[in-house]
Amino acid sequence: MGRLWRVALLGTGAWVGYGWGAQCALPLVGVWRGPVGRRQVSLTFDDGPDPEATPKLLRLLAARGARATFFLIGERAARHPEIVRAIVADGHEVGNHTWHHRKAWFLTPRATEAEIVGGACLLAGITGEVPRLYRPPWGIVNVPALRIARRAGYTTVLWSIQPEGAWACTPADQLRYCDRFLHDGAIIDLHDAPGLPGAPERVLELMPHLLDLLAARGLASVSVGTLLGAH
Ligand SMILES: [Zn+2]
Repeated sequence: MGRLWRVALLGTGAWVGYGWGAQCALPLVGVWRGPVGRRQVSLTFDDGPDPEATPKLLRLLAARGARATFFLIGERAARHPEIVRAIVADGHEVGNHTWHHRKAWFLTPRATEAEIVGGACLLAGITGEVPRLYRPPWGIVNVPALRIARRAGYTTVLWSIQPEGAWACTPADQLRYCDRFLHDGAIIDLHDAPGLPGAPERVLELMPHLLDLLAARGLASVSVGTLLGAH
């Protein structure tokens, strides 16, 4: 085998380990759901804050006494710190969704650290508290991401219900999906900002129905920290 081929193979193997190896470890180190028996679930909203959708969502949640966790993107939070403060003032929890929302498989260790630590520092500067929860964009991690989270004591939060799956799904599709898979201790992943096409409008339409569904099943919506018994 030629030298170039060996270098290419070694490089590919190292890259697969760096990304896919970490991905394989994620089911063991990440949190996907909360405990059963407390009749609690967590609504989580990624990719915000959004100046249009997030304040409307906050009003919907406040009207129903629901608490949630918002996994915020640093560069968006930096543009709308007043919305971040409103999220906290309403009793919700803020989690770190990195600075730029990049795919970890294509980030160097240094860039990975800048994404995670940079996002955490930005949010801490606004809220006065370092976020303890980290949600990797698209649920994609690499080896440094897991190491940084472990060393800093961040909890890596994924989800047990992801109703955004189909590209053209409607709020009715999402509600049916949640109805089918809803369970005690669920962590539900939704989006209140652009990224997935139509996500903010969809979540605003879904939310009253989803809150009705939770109430009908006797499930309270709490932050992930509360769900996991952290506070
Ligand atoms: Zn995201």
